Amino acid sequence: MLDSAPRVVIVGGGFGGLAAAKALRNADVRVVLVDRQNHHLFQPLLYQVATSVLSPGQIASPIRSILRRQRNTMVLLGEVTGVDSDQRCVFVDSVDREGVALGYDYLILATGASHSYFGHDEFARFAPGLKSLADAVSIRNHILGAFEQAEAEEDPKRHRDLLTFVLVGAGPTGVEMAGALAILVRAALRSEFRRVDPTSARIVLIDMAPRVLGPFAESLSAAAQERLQQLGVEVQLGHGVDLIDADGVVVGGERIASKTVIWTAGVAPSPAGNWLKAPTDRAGRVRVQPDLSVPGHPEIFVVGDTASLEQDGRPLGGVAQVAMQQGRYAGRVIHRRIDGKSAPRPFRYFDKGTMAVVGKGFAVLQSGRLHLSGFLAWLAWAAIHLEFLAQSSLRVSVFVQWVWTYVTGQRGARLIVNHHAPSSSDPAATRAPSIRFREQP
Ligand SMILES: Cc1cc2nc3c(=O)[nH]c(=O)nc-3n(C[C@H](O)[C@H](O)[C@H](O)COP(=O)(O)OP(=O)(O)OC[C@H]3O[C@@H](n4cnc5c(N)ncnc54)[C@H](O)[C@@H]3O)c2cc1C
Repeated sequence: MLDSAPRVVIVGGGFGGLAAAKALRNADVRVVLVDRQNHHLFQPLLYQVATSVLSPGQIASPIRSILRRQRNTMVLLGEVTGVDSDQRCVFVDSVDREGVALGYDYLILATGASHSYFGHDEFARFAPGLKSLADAVSIRNHILGAFEQAEAEEDPKRHRDLLTFVLVGAGPTGVEMAGALAILVRAALRSEFRRVDPTSARIVLIDMAPRVLGPFAESLSAAAQERLQQLGVEVQLGHGVDLIDADGVVVGGERIASKTVIWTAGVAPSPAGNWLKAPTDRAGRVRVQPDLSVPGHPEIFVVGDTASLEQDGRPLGGVAQVAMQQGRYAGRVIHRRIDGKSAPRPFRYFDKGTMAVVGKGFAVLQSGRLHLSGFLAWLAWAAIHLEFLAQSSLRVSVFVQWVWTYVTGQRGARLIVNHHAPSSSDPAATRAPSIRFREQP
């Protein structure tokens, strides 16, 4: 690859960024993919790590390993903190350097989203969200730790609070998490404790919406809710959470005492809109043009959860398929421009459908006019999720684990692991003055 070839900087190695990088594999460009994590994460299965079905290494792969055969692509571990669109560079904090300027000819921002507490950031302390592997492991520690604490507690009055689990937000993540938690406590843990009965644990799913799985058809929401109730999940709808503190939540004026509250509600986009000073929608997502570029900057593209685009009068949702198709499209636009070819037609999302799993052997699936719930939908869910895992080694490992768990009821990773906090002697915890990457030619 010639050093004079245009440089494409991709920020984010999630679904959008990875798809963009792969779309450029045969282009005459130098691709630099920057991510603050060293791994691509399959977020749709995070809830299975949080509920001990899978271990972290089964749903994530090192980005450089995924792209190892792509000779025109370099992967950098670093956090982007800003963009100078006049100078055409992004600023990167890496392990021991801050604010390193990295020049680009084309820029693709695919920085995803984080939790939104809808203006109540004070809830974050008491109700962690589920977005990263660290979140999932921390929630797993907390859930398993609650059972350990209850087993060691002589006062039976305290068992109830310790074994009450509250999930705030009944979208796909909340529903999937509640179903998996119910199976964990009612089946996997049932015979292992002496002082407490895990099957008596209370799981409460709360949402201010009138039904679970709002984006799905009403019949599928009803099927999912019925299934959750069969699994012993209490579904409380129609009231928002007024307060979350160390003793539980207050919802609709009533307190639910709980030592484990999990936030499965809103998401907020990354600060890409601020970096670019570009127009954003109300949620803060960058409003992109039909070719996914930023108004006034044909060389900058924003894709995935951090982009805002309407199709047929409706905003595209924050789902993996949108991010992948947009990433692939942005890569293609750049490839064609470099080859001197005409621009492709405006981006159009092809909706392959949505699904959510509810406990063991049951899912809901909506694809066009097809509405399906039950075991067949669950088989489709399992097949599609296996297909989209980043590497074949993960597909085999997850498949084997699922079969084992399905047949025996045993969980793969029921470990409480408290990672060390970085110490001052850890090189990653200290930062040296910045050194510049090679300048943009
Ligand atoms: C728990 C959960 C369950 C989900 N379930 C489903 C599902 O079942 N089906 C579905 O379709 N979708 C699901 N989603 C949504 C789906 O995961 C997202 O829509 C998708 O990941 C968006 O892709 P993206 O590329 O925009 O962002 P992401 O995949 O989130 O990737 C963003 C990347 O950017 C990196 N990054 C962010 N900021 C910076 C920075 N400043 N510097 C460097 N790197 C940075 C991050 O480390 C990350 O690797 C789920 C999401 C969650 C959280």
